[in-house]
Amino acid sequence: MKSCVTLATIGQDGDLRAIVVGGAEGGALPTSLLDTPFDYDPLEEAGAIVGSSVIELLPANTCMVAWAMDRSNYLAKESCGKCVPCRLGVKRIAGLLEGIVSDLGVSGDLAVLDEFASYVPNGSLCGFGTQAPNALKTAKHYWPDHFQMHIEEQQCPTGTCIPVRAHRYVTKHVLP
Ligand code: SF4
Repeated sequence: MKSCVTLATIGQDGDLRAIVVGGAEGGALPTSLLDTPFDYDPLEEAGAIVGSSVIELLPANTCMVAWAMDRSNYLAKESCGKCVPCRLGVKRIAGLLEGIVSDLGVSGDLAVLDEFASYVPNGSLCGFGTQAPNALKTAKHYWPDHFQMHIEEQQCPTGTCIPVRAHRYVTKHVLP
């Protein structure tokens, strides 16, 4: 039987930036998707997961680049390290996001992030790596303006980001 519970029964569209569905590896959905049924297929289609069933509400002043960075940093530490795409890929995602949050990003970073968003799940052995880029993917998909403003105007869209780096790390791009 289909669940009739929707995200609208959980969060109210007011001062919200996003609803994060699925726990640590969940995806962030905009308030325009509050009517999404709380069920496996609709959530996956939107970019989130049922996961641990944890629902988090992000306030309107949340910069989604910073949120994706924090989430990716946490997941990089939680990776068990058995396979390379998850062990190093999630760390690289977090590092690239740190650069963008610090207004040191360049437009080419967006394409590299897209590559990692495919590389990590495609090469990971378990569900952790498969879901780890969800934060990045949903932040980038639903709030591209946050990334653009940091990269093109060197400004945080919500005025809340504190730089975490003083220099860009220049690393060799090794993905095919
Ligand atoms: S994908 Fe799973 S097995 Fe591979 S490093 Fe990540 S947590 Fe470990």
